[in-house]
Amino acid sequence: MASVEFDSVTRDFGSGRPAVDQLSLSIGDGEFLVLVGPSGCGKSTSLRMLAGLEPIQAGRVLIDDVDVSGRAPKARDVAMVFQNYALYPNMTVAENMGFALRNAGMSKADTATAVDEAASMLELTEVLGRKPSALSGGQRQRVAMGRAIVRRPKVFCMDEPLSNLDAKLRVSTRAQIAALQRRLGTTTVYVTHDQVEAMTMGDRVAVLRDGLLQQVAAPRTLYLDPDNAFVAGFMGSPAMNLVDDLTVLDRTVHLGGLALRAPSAVSSTTVTVGVRPESWELTTPSGDTLDCRIDLVEELGAEQFVHCVPLDETVAPRGGKVVVRIDHRRSVAVGDTVGLRVPEDDATYWFD
Ligand code: ATP
Repeated sequence: MASVEFDSVTRDFGSGRPAVDQLSLSIGDGEFLVLVGPSGCGKSTSLRMLAGLEPIQAGRVLIDDVDVSGRAPKARDVAMVFQNYALYPNMTVAENMGFALRNAGMSKADTATAVDEAASMLELTEVLGRKPSALSGGQRQRVAMGRAIVRRPKVFCMDEPLSNLDAKLRVSTRAQIAALQRRLGTTTVYVTHDQVEAMTMGDRVAVLRDGLLQQVAAPRTLYLDPDNAFVAGFMGSPAMNLVDDLTVLDRTVHLGGLALRAPSAVSSTTVTVGVRPESWELTTPSGDTLDCRIDLVEELGAEQFVHCVPLDETVAPRGGKVVVRIDHRRSVAVGDTVGLRVPEDDATYWFD
């Protein structure tokens, strides 16, 4: 086990702005840290610099307080699990899993023991003699995990390891990986663009945007106390509703007839205000509501996502709509006019 530290790490491909810009991040011994952010934000590049697959132009990467920045991947004791699994097609599952150990000089018998142990953890014992082409997607993914596990590395680096699985398998596999990591206690850095994966798997989650670290915190903290509007809008599904460029007058902003009171900490005169889909109350229009026309109703079984377009055109939420999450028992229809309010005073988010 090991701690990992990114110390002001930078990688610039010469495209105008660095792909990773002075990233500083400390990851604890045994921690499951998720790097999350939209496509191109620098997640994979950060992970590759940790694994030694990408040169570090400035800053340092430390594993267990030792600077490994100049070391080859093999000399870092890090195991990488790739999105495409990178299995050897001509080798059996057992050979794929034992390959790195045999290469490192481990005896046949010891390799077989290590492979058997990992295979039983991953429920692969039955398929050890098969080639990758004769496996399901989920089994291939587990072989890729197995290859990393048998090495007992200091750190697991995982780059979108679930992205090739169908939605249902992704959900069950993410729980398996999280449980396995807890059982092994191996420090893990996990890259995904999926905020649900990040929230459910990580001890802590680091949110990146345009190569810059936005916030690193426990999932619950990111959700309840985002540092900025980007993090607020990125974490949560459906996304938080954000309205930009609102003028604060008498510590109040107005969304149509709806007045929202600013917390005392807000000092700016122009703000972005956010309300999560579940924090709205959907009611009948009255003088003090944000009145909208229902544009779309998405039924998900237990709940519904109601897309509402403000009647007052000066109210311009991002995406043009306010999304409201309600119970499936409520009866709503496209074309209805509704009034929105926020019953809980502390359910609004304010950003400068
Ligand atoms: P995705 O989720 O799409 O994989 P990411 O967050 O992992 O994205 P990176 O792959 O780290 O992002 O890429 C960050 C930025 O660096 C992007 O703008 C990308 O185009 C650029 N980049 C990555 N690798 C190279 C390379 N070898 N040469 C030039 N530019 C690169």
